[in-house]
Amino acid sequence: MTALEVGYDIPATPGMTEAEVQTPSLILDLDALEANIASMQSQADAAGVRLRVHGKMHKSAEIAQMQIAAGACGICCQKVSEAEAFARAGLRDILITNQVRGAVKTDRLARLPLLGARILTCVDDPANVAELSAAAQRHGTEIEVLVEIDCGAGRCGVAPDQAPGLAQAIVAAPGLRFAGLQAYQGSAQHQADPVARRGLIETAIAATRRAVDLLAADGQPCAIIGGAGTGSYRFEAASGVYNELQCGSYAFMDADYRRVLGEGAFRHSLFVLTTVMSHVKPDHAVVDAGLKVMSLDSGLPQVAGRSDVTYVAASDEHGELADPTSALRVGTQLRLIPGHCDPTCNLHEWYVGIRNGVVERLIPVTARGKSF
Ligand code: PLP
Ligand code: MN
Repeated sequence: MTALEVGYDIPATPGMTEAEVQTPSLILDLDALEANIASMQSQADAAGVRLRVHGKMHKSAEIAQMQIAAGACGICCQKVSEAEAFARAGLRDILITNQVRGAVKTDRLARLPLLGARILTCVDDPANVAELSAAAQRHGTEIEVLVEIDCGAGRCGVAPDQAPGLAQAIVAAPGLRFAGLQAYQGSAQHQADPVARRGLIETAIAATRRAVDLLAADGQPCAIIGGAGTGSYRFEAASGVYNELQCGSYAFMDADYRRVLGEGAFRHSLFVLTTVMSHVKPDHAVVDAGLKVMSLDSGLPQVAGRSDVTYVAASDEHGELADPTSALRVGTQLRLIPGHCDPTCNLHEWYVGIRNGVVERLIPVTARGKSF
């Protein structure tokens, strides 16, 4: 194989300084990443709950392995192709926190235990139970299945009262094992008002408790009662109901979660490194990072460590900055904090891991583009 070329295949090589990294690229502050991983794990341990980190955020097998080495019980992901990428990379306990529908996808899912991975997924429909069971029987494998309840977000999931009926269908289905409940309240995570956020999660906890009690009364204990994200995990961890947290964004953080959670929470470890490439007007700089390298669904990026310049507009390959004091020069590098980490990571092939200003290692975005 020919060597990977900086500037074409890869943004940097180990030993380079941050100033030598090709831009725009994703950089990871490894000290901050390790601190975030340790902090969430110790909070889960202190609450007596498992942490099953969400791999949809970083899509990186190597970062998932760092989280497992720190104590996570396994990973979550959202798609079969993502689960395949993680299983092929050696991850061994993978929950798809989503519905897997259709013959091709259920068939691919049912093959994954043959790689040695424990595979779990969610259902909210008896017809999906039948699909998964048929696929597992075709391959002689076992799929563990959680009943997903709608605990307030109004997206997927059955009402708590319907959980026992669906659990019975799973128990009766060859090739499937009933593993518990999926109860994730997604619409609460980025709720900026902490009182409103807490209220939404209290409603979710009550719905989950009701489903657990109904299942227990029906003779169906739940090994896993899972949910929670970076915005809400403290409440689920302390609920006495949930036993698995599914947080993802805490490892990298983004500008939107900083607005929601404030300064005390987790450190920013993910940045889009960008360079000023044009500065014709004194108060207006143009950088090389636009919307092809950064998701804007949760707002424009923040410029890390600088209050004198502001990222004000993005187009495909350009970012425009207000530079009222003419502080920037062509060639100046800036670290941008993206508004939303998950879809930003999916736009890149590599993370450049940096410690003390020097590139320590490149980390592939293993499941980049795996959206089937
Ligand atoms: N669990 C599920 C089912 C999710 O869909 C998500 C993210 O959307 C998470 C957990 C993780 O959330 P966060 O990245 O906010 O920690
Ligand atoms: Mn997200």
